[in-house]
Amino acid sequence: MITSTNPYTREEIDRFEELNEDQIDKALKAADSTFSSWKKTSFAERSKLMNAVAKELKGNKEEYAKDITNEMGKPLEQSISEIEKCAWVCKYYAENAEKQLANEVIETDAEKSYVSYEPIGVVLAIMPWNYPFWQVFRFAAPALMAGNIGVLKHASNVMRTAQNIQKVFERAGFPENCFQSLMIGSKKIETVIRDKRVKAVTLTGSKPAGSSVASIAGEEIKKSVLELGGSNALVVFKDANIQETVKSCVMARFQNTGQSCIAGKRLLLQKEIEEKFMEEFIKQVKELKSGDPMDKDTFIGVLAREDLAEDLEDQVNRTIEQGGNLVMGGKRNKAYYEPTIVSGVKRGMAMFEEETFGPAISVTTFKDSDEAVDLVNSAVFGLGVSIFTEDFDFAAKLVPQFEDGAVFVNDLVKSDPRLPFGGTKDSGYGRELSEHGIREFVNRKTVYFN
Ligand code: NAP
Repeated sequence: MITSTNPYTREEIDRFEELNEDQIDKALKAADSTFSSWKKTSFAERSKLMNAVAKELKGNKEEYAKDITNEMGKPLEQSISEIEKCAWVCKYYAENAEKQLANEVIETDAEKSYVSYEPIGVVLAIMPWNYPFWQVFRFAAPALMAGNIGVLKHASNVMRTAQNIQKVFERAGFPENCFQSLMIGSKKIETVIRDKRVKAVTLTGSKPAGSSVASIAGEEIKKSVLELGGSNALVVFKDANIQETVKSCVMARFQNTGQSCIAGKRLLLQKEIEEKFMEEFIKQVKELKSGDPMDKDTFIGVLAREDLAEDLEDQVNRTIEQGGNLVMGGKRNKAYYEPTIVSGVKRGMAMFEEETFGPAISVTTFKDSDEAVDLVNSAVFGLGVSIFTEDFDFAAKLVPQFEDGAVFVNDLVKSDPRLPFGGTKDSGYGRELSEHGIREFVNRKTVYFN
């Protein structure tokens, strides 16, 4: 049995019977047979349905958002914004998939030669709870528009949301079984990855999960995409606009109660501005309103599970034992963890080396750009980095020195349907979103006429 528990009220919300082997087999059979007809549909038909999905999301955003908030504690306003963003990615691919997957003519010795991008079949998505709609839609919109079939194994604490996502596609009029949510825990996922009817797998989650899934997929010679953890740095140079930069840094760390792979987790400040920056930063962090996630003016909710708050508390405590200074916060009450700032953090300390998944930020100072680049690149992760400076030429020279999948200048790292999203190093491989994302799960067929 899989249960959903509200992390704020600690009440059990729902229980789900896990699918048995026969039921999993039936679901995959249905997915596979739906592929034979779905792959033949035109882009126009798919676009119409995907636009209907966007409409359904917008029309019932409060309904879907409330279940997100109940299951994982995200403040309601942020759950609503997440649903709106899903509608955006659906509209984006409804409008762009056809041209992104159009035949690409390449001049050769042939009469005519080109690459065609064709669907591959059933793609399995293993997804996390932190943006339980968005993570799924940024996979599903391009996958379905490309002519593939989606099968979701969602995180065990957001299974009602998983059912809601399947409902969205059904309500929008998608053919049955184009998108299914499988009610299974991670112990049952290996047989699904190995199943011949499943052609590829994408996982968003932690390194251990990614490593296990990619190993199994590798043994089966199946393509995988991994979107894993991150420990993004926010690098503030002395010429940055302090007021604007503080605003971006607060959002980068504290939105979604700090539970984001691309959150700015390590604040790196040029020594000269430390005092001035910290004064304003502390002021703005103190203004963040904690409370009941269902209240419309709450910005900091609870963490998605109590054990996650305990993990964060442990990371902060270890950092302090290692010599970090607690500037504010540091207290936990069940699944709630106070917005927390720890300064004087150095390499080797827990909050510098590990990913922190909650509302706690480490502060480190640097003397020049060489040291800043070094500090950024010393992380095992490589999802993204934000740099803040008024000097664009200087910023442009720094960009190639970072090893990450994204560099944002004067803004927080964010995902946008029009731009590729993904990491390097322990943050994974492959890209989602944009033309790059839709081309991950297609057969790039070389065609040659002579
Ligand atoms: P997680 O434990 O890895 O869980 C993610 C998903 O993987 C869940 O559906 C989970 O199922 C499943 N899973 C767990 N262990 C598995 C295994 N051994 N084999 C197959 N599937 C497995 O991650 P989390 O703690 O929920 O999520 C937080 C992590 O995700 C952080 O590291 C965060 O940075 C990362 N993340 C990355 C991105 C990105 O785009 N790069 C976005 C969001 C989050 P169960 O729930 O049933 O265990």
